[in-house]
Amino acid sequence: MISVQEALDIIKENAVKRRTELRLVTESLNYVVAKDLFSPIDMPPFPQSAMDGYAIQLSDTTAFHQLVGESAAGNLTKNLELKTGEAVRIFTGAAVPKGANAVIMQEQVLVSGNQISFTKQPSVGQNIRPQGEQITKAELAYRKDLKITAASIGYLAGLGITEVLVHKKPVINIVVTGNELVKPSIDLPYGKIYESNSVMLNAVLQSYGYEVNIIEHVKDNYQQTVDLIKASLTSSDVLLLSGGISVGDYDFVSKALAELDVEQLFYKVKQKPGKPLFFGKTKDKLVFALPGNPAAALTCFYMYVLVALDLLSGNQNSGLSNTTTLLKADFEVRGVRDLLLKGVTDFKTTEILGMQSSAMLRSFSEANCIVYLTQNSGLIKAGTEVPTYLF
Ligand code: AMP
Ligand code: MG
Repeated sequence: MISVQEALDIIKENAVKRRTELRLVTESLNYVVAKDLFSPIDMPPFPQSAMDGYAIQLSDTTAFHQLVGESAAGNLTKNLELKTGEAVRIFTGAAVPKGANAVIMQEQVLVSGNQISFTKQPSVGQNIRPQGEQITKAELAYRKDLKITAASIGYLAGLGITEVLVHKKPVINIVVTGNELVKPSIDLPYGKIYESNSVMLNAVLQSYGYEVNIIEHVKDNYQQTVDLIKASLTSSDVLLLSGGISVGDYDFVSKALAELDVEQLFYKVKQKPGKPLFFGKTKDKLVFALPGNPAAALTCFYMYVLVALDLLSGNQNSGLSNTTTLLKADFEVRGVRDLLLKGVTDFKTTEILGMQSSAMLRSFSEANCIVYLTQNSGLIKAGTEVPTYLF
């Protein structure tokens, strides 16, 4: 059995980004940029008014300016050129006419007929966004290794960039195992349970920007397990299995993976929940066999699978963000496994919830963090700083 840290190290060694693809910027949210992007234009593309007001050519001696035209956003009177003593009515976002070197906000202007004067002495350049103020043509616009956010989509779109080379995200398949699992829509036969891991994993993947390709359910039958895993491997980069990885008579996943030449990179981690976690690879495909118990499966997803997916997708920061918070109440850690505990945090203090059983999702469904406590810590007093993983 290996430690949590050793398991993470093995995952990090094996989850290496690979392929890139060209995507529309509008369809690249959460992708990581694989190649520097350069601006095709100056931004703003022309000297732009930052206010509704009046554009003037500023000279110390002129108190009154003659109104000679108008420049509204997107609609500059062509070839308009200001001379000393002239002014143009202008609006936010509009092009500042040639010859103008200041925009006076309308609140500081007195208009009398065709003449304007100011209630406050203007200064050169005021309320004008110079051409290329944000970025100039051919300048580095967006660095590789950065993730595309809503802001970056807006920013790149504003520069007229429509395509971006990104790291591909892995194709993910899910296979759940178990004779006891039934679809939620039917009456529950005695001895059966509703299948929940596939929908939960699908949802958590979605929430981190990943998509599931195919979800399959296999009965606890050795040959079927082999066949389905084999088929699922051919159409995925990452295969997530749930259940059947323990040592019961009907747990066939280990054996099936061995038959399919999936190299075991680790099996069993010194942690609670999620001890029977398997991680392996075959060619360039990664396989996680998650415990069937739902809370264990989700904990392993957050702590390990997400790290692998993020790294495969080119992220520098992988997995949940983590911080330290103060325990709200005393907590006793007995035993030789590290604990991954469901908690609720306000980002300063954290309450460890009840119902920590790996079979239960009830408290997990209200949690917003996992508290990581190391084995044999004994009594941890309220107010102690503890590592806290946020989701
Ligand atoms: P296993 O790892 O297959 O021994 O399963 C451990 C526990 O998790 C058993 O109580 C299973 O019934 C339950 N379990 C396994 N797979 C699922 C699933 N997909 N949805 C809900 N519970 C499951
Ligand atoms: Mg099972």
